[in-house]
Amino acid sequence: MFRSVVPRAAPRALLRPVSQSTFCAPNLYFQGRLRRGYASEAEEKDLVIIGGGVAGYVAAIKAGQAGLKVACIEKRGSLGGTCLNVGCIPSKSLLNNSHLYHTILHDTKARGIEVGDVTLNLGAMMKAKETSVSGLTKGIEFLFKKNNVEYIKGTGAFKDEHTVAVNLVEGGETEVRGKNIFIATGSEATPFPGLTIDEEKVITSTGAIALKEVPKKMIVIGGGIIGLEMGSVWSRLGAEVTVVEYLGQIGGPGMDNEIAKLTQKLLTKQGMKFKLNTKVMGGDVSTSSVAINVEAAKGGKEESLDADVVLVAIGRRPYTAGLGLENIGLETDERGRLIIDQEFRTKIPHIRSIGDVTFGPMLAHKAEEEAVAAIEYLIKGYGHVNYGAIPSVMYTHPEVAWVGQNEQELKAADVKYKTGSFPFSANSRAKTNLDTEGIVKFLADAKTDRILGIHIVGPNAGEMIAEGVLALEYGASSEDVARTSHAHPTLSEAFKEAAMATYDKAIHY
Ligand SMILES: Cc1cc2nc3c(=O)[nH]c(=O)nc-3n(C[C@H](O)[C@H](O)[C@H](O)COP(=O)(O)OP(=O)(O)OC[C@H]3O[C@@H](n4cnc5c(N)ncnc54)[C@H](O)[C@@H]3O)c2cc1C
Repeated sequence: MFRSVVPRAAPRALLRPVSQSTFCAPNLYFQGRLRRGYASEAEEKDLVIIGGGVAGYVAAIKAGQAGLKVACIEKRGSLGGTCLNVGCIPSKSLLNNSHLYHTILHDTKARGIEVGDVTLNLGAMMKAKETSVSGLTKGIEFLFKKNNVEYIKGTGAFKDEHTVAVNLVEGGETEVRGKNIFIATGSEATPFPGLTIDEEKVITSTGAIALKEVPKKMIVIGGGIIGLEMGSVWSRLGAEVTVVEYLGQIGGPGMDNEIAKLTQKLLTKQGMKFKLNTKVMGGDVSTSSVAINVEAAKGGKEESLDADVVLVAIGRRPYTAGLGLENIGLETDERGRLIIDQEFRTKIPHIRSIGDVTFGPMLAHKAEEEAVAAIEYLIKGYGHVNYGAIPSVMYTHPEVAWVGQNEQELKAADVKYKTGSFPFSANSRAKTNLDTEGIVKFLADAKTDRILGIHIVGPNAGEMIAEGVLALEYGASSEDVARTSHAHPTLSEAFKEAAMATYDKAIHY
């Protein structure tokens, strides 16, 4: 089915600038080139992808499935990029297992489970993480073979508009030519000026998933999703964690204010400390600990905080270092992002860019959607990503998840909306599980009842949000969701009841 590229739901703030008409070659011409072939077909691939992260490997598999001759160049020595190697997967392994540890330490008695001494074996916990990572990265290699994708281990750099020179991981060099080239080189942690990252005392998320011992005190600079997830892990394992955040709320700009406040309250109850509206002025790493100087964001008295480890989690920036963009005249914008049109083309039409290295939220599932759509544009001339319906999830406990617009965004845009919410404390399954913290909140158009945003903090929010994404994708009203049967007893009944509360009244609250 042909799907429009224009989001049907109201778009989020981070939509890509569209300038497609200025440098898009017509697609028919493009498809014709693909079919016609080249004299040097034997050496030339239909598609060369630089970067084997989620964006790159998904595009490679999709291209292989479509019968294109495709090569994927990855310099890490293992596929899956940030997500599988040092991001989503290892962090979720540690989040899951540290949550189990914390539960066994603090939350078994009321459940009728008596346990003896509980000890942490951090080495074994890290090993479990590594097992998950290696299983998944090897799985991608298997999928490459299955779909005839050539995997080139090395660092790629543009020699010219169709040629990528590769510095091979195992030594030596090679060149690969592509009729089309995708740049999927991802992102890296943004450093904090004046604090040198050593991944031991001053760490990024990469150091935070690999600490050899539990620090006594940890300072997290940045109260966004990555900072709060990694802060949660080490807090559960015994560290005293203080989060320093410049803004007045945690969770980053996408998180609904009400949900952010509630989440902060819940994380505080678990032992994490927060310093909001606070800016970090600098740090001193010359002693065995780290001293961080902070002051009120609007100016004020300076204060010094002490920690064994400081996690810098102030965001990520696109990564294009060493790619040789200057050799082909491609430039990035002021934030380092590759500039593309709606079909993911750079100003050189056969070179496209997807994933973290270009516009939009830096999320694995966004990269995956773009990879599929970019291949579809390449081979069919049309594709689809609805940027208005990309979910965000924070895998703390309870989890936080949302899709669509939040209340502060609707207010700022002067949209007339109505809202309804339902607490997990009134949900039978949450009560049965003794896991009742959090709420589900709907935002719907005041006149049409069309859902504009769904925000959840609560158990299993990350899975539950999928229903919200589907509702938004298909333009559902809160009444549509409220009139849909949900199994009993499930947490998802809280989702239904929040929808009921939006268009009429909840039954159980
Ligand atoms: C700690 C952490 C937790 C995260 N958790 C989540 C989560 O739970 N859910 C979620 O959706 N997202 C999460 N993310 C974000 C997610 O990892 C990224 O959005 C995703 O990996 C982006 O995919 P990508 O393919 O665009 O880039 P990347 O995954 O960064 O892949 C790019 C790849 O390109 C390679 N490369 C770069 N330059 C070259 C070159 N010149 N030649 C060859 N190879 C090159 C790199 O080595 C890298 O492997 C997390 C990130 C972090 C850091």
